[in-house]
Amino acid sequence: MCDGGGGGGGSTPFDRQPIREKLKYKAWLHIFLGFVCMVTIIGIPIAFLFFILARRTFRKRASYPVIEITCKVCGKKYVVEPYIHGITCDYCRQSVYVKG
Ligand SMILES: [Zn+2]
Repeated sequence: MCDGGGGGGGSTPFDRQPIREKLKYKAWLHIFLGFVCMVTIIGIPIAFLFFILARRTFRKRASYPVIEITCKVCGKKYVVEPYIHGITCDYCRQSVYVKG
């Protein structure tokens, strides 16, 4: 899900899933570099290398484990990485902690 730019003190996708977000940026960077390489004929094999790297990074991101937590106040669900202990709910500004 994409939740706009937005400022404020709420949690961002980056707070909830730092590793997955980093992998996503890395993959898009590879795709961007791939397109840059494609501009020149000589760069096309390098471009394919970047696209393969991007696909691998997306797969790594998809297989990264996540857990789902629910805000007790408003019931909003969040998907976070397992080592995240708590986040701030975007809607009611309550702290949501991971059980156990
Ligand atoms: Zn809430």
